[in-house]
Amino acid sequence: MKYGVIGYKGKMGRLITKLFNEKGHTSVLYVDKNSIKQTDIPEIIIDFSSKDALPHTIELCIKNSANLVIGTTGLSNEDISSLKDLSKKVAILQSYNFSFGINIIVEILEKFKTLFSDWDCEIFEIHHSEKKDKPSGTAFMLEKAINRKINITSARIGGIPGDHTILFANQGELISISHRAISREVFALGALKASEWLLSKKKGYYTFKDVIKEGL
Ligand code: NAD
Repeated sequence: MKYGVIGYKGKMGRLITKLFNEKGHTSVLYVDKNSIKQTDIPEIIIDFSSKDALPHTIELCIKNSANLVIGTTGLSNEDISSLKDLSKKVAILQSYNFSFGINIIVEILEKFKTLFSDWDCEIFEIHHSEKKDKPSGTAFMLEKAINRKINITSARIGGIPGDHTILFANQGELISISHRAISREVFALGALKASEWLLSKKKGYYTFKDVIKEGL
């Protein structure tokens, strides 16, 4: 596929470009802050950058009739509405976490949340010190899956790609569900899988759960 990357100079942008090129895909559009290079029309645009890039990303998707895979976190409700509007024209896949593991945990939480309705619950998340948003988008995904207001504790230390733990406790028991991204490559692999899946879609709003559900 011919693809474009928004945030190509960043940690995720560099990994995505390396992985997609290794798999035989061709990068035809590179965008970063104050920088744009385009050699052809992309079929898919992949955005792992910043919420500030979103208006330009939307403009590029419309101009090129390109589908969008977006992993950028810290989006506002207005940003999500703009993406929903865009999904009437092109296909969009948005997720705050492109790992299979977190998306499987989300499935489990959605299915069993009522069994935990009278248990105490807390979410803990740890990320590298450069991460801008706090709490993480993934923590919000987990809270949404449990479908109630949950206290989230965040730490920004070292180079950790992403650790999330959900604790459920009652007076006699403690259940801990944990996920650790061992390297950022897991998110780039998810973005690749999502892009290949989205390529044939014409329009609509999808999440990474739609991709993993086909394998369940
Ligand atoms: P990073 O800071 O290393 O890279 C971000 C890149 O975006 C930088 O090169 C920066 O210059 C560029 N950028 C910033 N503003 C821009 C703009 N207005 N226009 C174009 N480019 C712009 O960060 P990162 O670790 O690569 O993460 C990028 C984003 O992806 C963050 O929002 C992060 O939370 C998110 N992320 C999501 C997942 C997921 O699975 N959904 C996984 C990892 C990271």
